[in-house]
Amino acid sequence: MAEETRLIRAGATPKSLAKTVGPPIQKGSTVLLPNAQALYDDDNFITYGRQGLSAHDALRDALAEMEGAKGVCLYPSGLAALTGAMLAVLKAGDEVLVVDNIYKPTRRFCDHVLRRFGVAVRYFDPRQRPEDLVGGASEAVRMIVMESPGSLSFEMQDLAAIARLARARGILTLADNTWGAGYLIKPLAQGVDISVQALTKYVGGHSDVFMGSAAANDPALVGQLENGVIHLGWAVAPEDAYQMLRGLRTLPTRLARQGESSLAIAAWLRDQPEVAGVLHPALPGAPDHELWKRDYAGACGLFGFVFRPASETAVNAFLDALELFGLGFSWGGFESLAISCDPQLGTRKFRPDYGGPLMRLHVGLENAGDLIADLRKGLDAFSATGG
Ligand SMILES: *Cc1c(COP(=O)(O)O)cnc(C)c1O
Repeated sequence: MAEETRLIRAGATPKSLAKTVGPPIQKGSTVLLPNAQALYDDDNFITYGRQGLSAHDALRDALAEMEGAKGVCLYPSGLAALTGAMLAVLKAGDEVLVVDNIYKPTRRFCDHVLRRFGVAVRYFDPRQRPEDLVGGASEAVRMIVMESPGSLSFEMQDLAAIARLARARGILTLADNTWGAGYLIKPLAQGVDISVQALTKYVGGHSDVFMGSAAANDPALVGQLENGVIHLGWAVAPEDAYQMLRGLRTLPTRLARQGESSLAIAAWLRDQPEVAGVLHPALPGAPDHELWKRDYAGACGLFGFVFRPASETAVNAFLDALELFGLGFSWGGFESLAISCDPQLGTRKFRPDYGGPLMRLHVGLENAGDLIADLRKGLDAFSATGG
């Protein structure tokens, strides 16, 4: 054969693979089938490289192990997992009940996309009693979407109670479990039908890769989610799947350290004169602590706190004085972050008076004493403006 032909085929047949601790990373849009009959035998063969390559499957298996799931689907971001799971099961005429302190981009999807396709969306108070929430649901309600603790303000729902009551009425439940990272609580074991998380956060753990997952146990539901992925055309890069798997190996160790530091920092913050309260369910005495204690095996590094009533100038002086805490919206990585939250609360329907400016901290893997010293500097700058 001519050299140009030989170069197309050269090196294409790997010898048997050396055994490394991580899976091989197969790359490919084209998947070669073993024979003509296999070309249209979708049940038995991967026919295309969007999914099912080595690193995809290794990650899916590991996540299924962690979530206690029969099936796990991968999506290119956490938000894509949430929207993909909802689109996989909802149809025009359905109604969905969504917790009011849901991650804001999820709310944007519900308001702008689900409604456009004829799905009614109603927001519920995160602390509404499960009996009232499910008892008050109309016949059209097909799904309840929860996030516990919820974005920015950390109110919790009783996942088990809502899931049990909803199932008795044939209503599906979905939980955004990004705070619990699939590790601190197992939503499927609580009876929740679909456990979603932004792997971007704690599983990735290094703030440099996007991905999301949806896990389920019921085989019919797993099939619906998988079809949703196929119909919408989602694919994740094999290198990214590998990187998520690498993050997963150290997830328990990082969470233990970040949870411990976040509790120490939350307890310290609560005693500072500038602070009116701390929103960290794992902290004894904080809101929803009893529910956290019942259901969670630990804490992560993300929590909120409330300043005494203060000007925006004072809040910004606090943020600008921080050196170890970066100002950024993501979380779950090794680094500490801080944001102010009030500008994000405008779309909420059930907005309690938090009593002052609402702040959110993500505690990373730095030394907790150093982080406390950094926060003290920020609080001094806050006080220097007159609060
Ligand atoms: C970040 C986040 C998401 C979205 O994850 P992306 O990968 O950034 O799309 C979803 N839910 C919660 C609670 C989050 O914090």
